[in-house]
Amino acid sequence: MLALEAGTMDIIGLEGLSEDQIQFELSRGARFVVFQYFISIIILTFKRSSDIYFIKADEGTLGKGITHTVISLLLGWWGIPWGPIYTIQSLITNLRGGRDVTQAILQAVQKETESCKGPVCPHCGASYNPADYRQDAPGWLCSQCRKPLPKGVT
Ligand SMILES: [Zn+2]
Repeated sequence: MLALEAGTMDIIGLEGLSEDQIQFELSRGARFVVFQYFISIIILTFKRSSDIYFIKADEGTLGKGITHTVISLLLGWWGIPWGPIYTIQSLITNLRGGRDVTQAILQAVQKETESCKGPVCPHCGASYNPADYRQDAPGWLCSQCRKPLPKGVT
């Protein structure tokens, strides 16, 4: 979950929430959603996705989705021929609460967390960063248990 705070993704609604609180909200049925909107310029209609919103279980999405719905209604509908079709699609998606991207987010976070895991001490399990040790040192010692560490793992 730290990956979210590190700013790899822009998620609205996570401000001020700790990792524990986020997990708690997710267990209660919170979701990550995006809203769709469309902008038509001359004959081109662009499909856009909003930022990702973190929606708690007891929170409504109508207020959050309405901005994008209004953008579609104002700017999207008149593009021919897709403007009206896309606008109606986005209306339906947004009124249903946006597109649920919770699984995708959680998977991305999981991957991020796994790839962040460095090597661990084979004796006590403390994680260590090979970058903290000198490659030309005669031996590496665990900072926790002072036993030798496998050298040169990157
Ligand atoms: Zn150790």
